[in-house]
Formats: sequence, structure tokens, C-alpha cells
Amino acid sequence: MSAAGLAIRSRFLARPSEAAHRIAGQPLLLASCPVVIPAHRVSPFSTSAPSYCANHKPSGATQTNSTASSTTDKYAAGLRKNKDWAAQTAREHPELFPTLATGQQPQILWLGCSDSRCAETSMLGLLPGDVFVHRNIANILHPGDLSSGAVIEYAVKHLRVKHIVVCGHTSCGGVAAAMGNKQLGILDPWLLPLRQVRERNLAVLQKLSPVEAAEKLAELNVRESLNVVTQKDVVLSAIQERGLQVHGLIYEVGSGVLRELDTSDSDEAIKARLVAFKTDA
Ligand SMILES: [Zn+2]
Repeated sequence: MSAAGLAIRSRFLARPSEAAHRIAGQPLLLASCPVVIPAHRVSPFSTSAPSYCANHKPSGATQTNSTASSTTDKYAAGLRKNKDWAAQTAREHPELFPTLATGQQPQILWLGCSDSRCAETSMLGLLPGDVFVHRNIANILHPGDLSSGAVIEYAVKHLRVKHIVVCGHTSCGGVAAAMGNKQLGILDPWLLPLRQVRERNLAVLQKLSPVEAAEKLAELNVRESLNVVTQKDVVLSAIQERGLQVHGLIYEVGSGVLRELDTSDSDEAIKARLVAFKTDA
């Protein structure tokens, strides 16, 4: 295979300024009459109270702090906005929902952090159906993890995505935790790969300010996850056979802009990876 086959270059992202413009240009959703959630349909596991608009409050329903909760509770607000969003999206893209109802053909597999600020489809200015997603705390890929492994295999082998993206971000809580030395229970084994990256790069990280070190570790973590991705036979085969591209990104949560990492490999590294990880049926 050629070096270009494993070249890690993005061809689908806008330049940062364009990305910011597109995000800024997203249409605002209009709020209308809130959805009524009958009391009997509220999940026993829900931690939020149902809310009602003034016109639909059922007789006998009691609601405390109605004005405050209807304007600040994001679950209730999201349910209210969903119908407007669906209607507006259908107006702007009449074929979208009927097409999606028949199946999906995403071009991108996104491996990112669970962080609420890192909503991949929104930050890319794309639509439902465009991005197949796996997110977890600190976008860590454990080599033996069934969840991420199944997502990667399904996306590459069956959905035949054209791009795999590993995206880290600034101000990542998982990275901050791995930079500290507090016991965190179940998070400790999860963050272990991140601590191992920290260990291997300790000299570099210790020369940086805390903020710079966290950003550096986030970047190193993306590179580590890319290593795990490109050690999978299904990914190596797709790179060789149909030009699957693999990308590393950092999302700046303070600006909304994505920064692409140069993660291209040397011919020597590519050869070694193929020798070590390519397998046959
Ligand atoms: Zn994060």
C-alpha cells in the first residue's frame, strides 16, 4: 500500500473561520406551546418534574415554580422545542426524514468525548444521518473495549464510512482527572490509558503550565486513540482497499472551532503496523 493510503488528512472540514461562521449561522429554533406531559407518562426514573404551558395545564395538576421550571428545565424545554425543530428541519430538507426512515449512510464515524459541550453534528454544521457516533469519557479507546470495538467494526465494515475522526477537546474533565492524583473509583481503570500517556510524556508535560499541559495531554490522547483505531484489522483493510481516512482533531470549547492535528505516519511506521496487525480471514 502507498503512504497516501494511511495519510491522515481531512477533506471534509471547513476552515476554522468557515466552521465558526456556519455554527453562528445555524437557524434558531422557535419556542412555541410547550408539550404537555401527562403525569402518568413521567418515567419513575426521571429526576425532572413535568411542566405544562398555561393553556394546557390539566385540571387538578399541581406545579410548583411553574414559570421558573418551564423556562429553565432543559428536559422540558427540549421536548417543547423538538416539534418545532422537526418541522423546521423538514421544511428546510424535505427529503431528509423520509430518506432517514429507510436507513442511514453516514460518511463519518466520530469517536469523541461525552462532554455536553462537544456535540459533533452541531459543531460540524451537519444533519442527522451524517455522523455515526461513539462517545465516552475523555474519548479513550481501550483496545479490548467491546462497545467502541463494535461501533468501529459496524461503521467501517457495514456502513462503509469514509472518515474516522478521533476528537479530543480543551477543558476536558477526564484529562484534568488524569493530570491529578485523586482516587476516583470506577473512573480510575477507565482513565488508565490516559495516565499511561501522561507517564510516557511526563518530562514534556512538566515543562508546561497546567492549562498547556492539559491541552497537550488531550492532543496526545487523541494520537493514542488513533493508534488503537489503526491497529484494528478492519480499519487497516478499509484503508488499503477503499481509501478510508483517519483524522485527529481538537475541539476548542471556548471558541467552537475544530483544530486538525497532523497525524500522518512515516512509511516505516505504516509498514510496521501492517506487519504487526494485518490479519487474514
Ligand atoms: Zn472531555
